[in-house]
Amino acid sequence: MTTIAEARTSWTATAKFTPGSYIKARRTAQLLSLQDVAARIATHPHVPEHDRVAWLERIEADQVPASIHTIDALRSVFRFDRSVLDSLAAIARGERDLIHTPRICRVCACSWRCPCSREREECAWVEGQDLCTACEPLAGSQPESVPAQDAAA
Ligand SMILES: [Zn+2]
Ligand SMILES: [Zn+2]
Repeated sequence: MTTIAEARTSWTATAKFTPGSYIKARRTAQLLSLQDVAARIATHPHVPEHDRVAWLERIEADQVPASIHTIDALRSVFRFDRSVLDSLAAIARGERDLIHTPRICRVCACSWRCPCSREREECAWVEGQDLCTACEPLAGSQPESVPAQDAAA
């Protein structure tokens, strides 16, 4: 059994992401509205046509799972890490232990395969926190500060 302290070197248990909230966090971090995403996936034949905004909201609320086709369509619109999403989905189904949550920035939901890139510099982890250096100025220095939702507004 791995302790939290050991796990925290590469995994996190403080950021409580679900598949839906991960997709939502990545979308808002890239300053896209649901309407933006709905409009941009309109050309994908496998995505249901009826009220795409409401349907995306249900995915982000974990009321419906995102299909392979949906994930591909969403990935054509904004950046997220497929393996992180797969891990979170496995945890949500109870097939993977919560302690194996991938390390995800609690503000922007970036991860090591999908880092922020600002002025050609990639972000890094803030020591001991589920927070990346790109978000550090927004989040303050307290390890358990409230999520910086205003950063996405
Ligand atoms: Zn971040
Ligand atoms: Zn980052």
